[in-house]
This record gives sequence, structure tokens and C-alpha cells, in this order.
Amino acid sequence: VREYKFVVLGTGGVGKSALTVRYVQDFFLIRYDPTIEDSYRKTTLIEGESVVLEILDTAGTEQFTAMRDLYMKNGHGFILVYSITSQSSFVDLRDMHQMILRVKDVEKVPLVLCGNKCDLVDQRVISTEQGTNLGLEIGASFYESSALQGLNVEELFVDLVKQVNKM
Ligand code: GDP
Ligand code: MG
Repeated sequence: VREYKFVVLGTGGVGKSALTVRYVQDFFLIRYDPTIEDSYRKTTLIEGESVVLEILDTAGTEQFTAMRDLYMKNGHGFILVYSITSQSSFVDLRDMHQMILRVKDVEKVPLVLCGNKCDLVDQRVISTEQGTNLGLEIGASFYESSALQGLNVEELFVDLVKQVNKM
């Protein structure tokens, strides 16, 4: 069985834990300690293959440490999450992307860009077009998701598996 190590990154509060738990356990996490960093395993069928995903839900508590470098080095694919309701969470992703490339010492890496909380239409500050453009710029697949509604959550992970398979 093939194993994939994925890392979920993004500013605190964007919904990294909610997306991970929605995907792995299929429920909506209303409140979760933002400082908890944990990894989850899920066995599933993707493209007709039984695969094991090991998903690291980061909490950003170990910024600039050897531990962060280690999980970036070991990660096969990355999900960069912002919230469509937060300008700063969107801006932060460029640096995180650069950091991944630097630590892994590669020019391209399997990558999904995710604009989460798309159910909060009244609070939107980042347009779909801005997300699309950033995705093109960093070479990532782009989705808008809602962990609350379970919208485009599985797609993030399936897309990443397909990208790793193509590398
Ligand atoms: P993290 O710090 O990135 O892990 O963010 P969390 O997963 O802890 O989510 C932060 C807050 O946003 C929590 O109150 C979640 O319930 C909420 N949240 C996460 N995803 C969504 C979503 O898709 N829609 C809405 N409306 N709220 C969300
Ligand atoms: Mg979290």
C-alpha cells in the first residue's frame, strides 16, 4: 500500500484542523485548540488504488525550528490554506510557499491552494479570481472549500495524490 505524507499549512484560524477532520472523520470541528499540531491517518481508495494518507495538521507553533524543516522535507505534498474572509491569511501563503521550496530544495512540489470558508459569502474579501491567479503563480491546483458544508474537501486530498503520482 502506497503511503503519502501531506502537510496542511496556513495562518491560524483558516480552518486547517476543520478541513483535516472533515476529510478524515467526516464531521465539522466547531472549536479546536489552535495550538494543537497532530497527524492523522486515513486509508482510502483513490484512482482504484488503496492508499494511506498521513496528514499533518500544523499549528505554526514551531516556526523557524528544525522540526518544521523536518516535516517540510518529509512531506510529499502540501495544502496551503487561507480563508476567503482574511486578506492577511492570503498574503501569508507566498512566504510559506517559498519556505517549502527552500527547505525541500526543489523548484516544484505537489501543491494545492485552498480558499476555505467559502460558505461565509457575506464576509468574503478574497475573490475567486485572486485565488485562481495565486494558484497559477505558485503552480498549485486551486479550490474554494467549506469544511462546514463539506464542500471540495475530499477534492483537495485526491488532487494532491494525483499530483504526487504524476511526479
Ligand atoms: P486552524 O487554526 O487553521 O486549524 O483553524 P480551525 O480549523 O481551528 O478553524 C478556526 C475556526 O474557523 C473555527 O471556529 C472553525 O469552526 C471555523 N471554520 C473552519 N472551517 C470553516 C468553514 O469552512 N466555514 C466556516 N463558516 N467556519 C469554519
Ligand atoms: Mg488547527
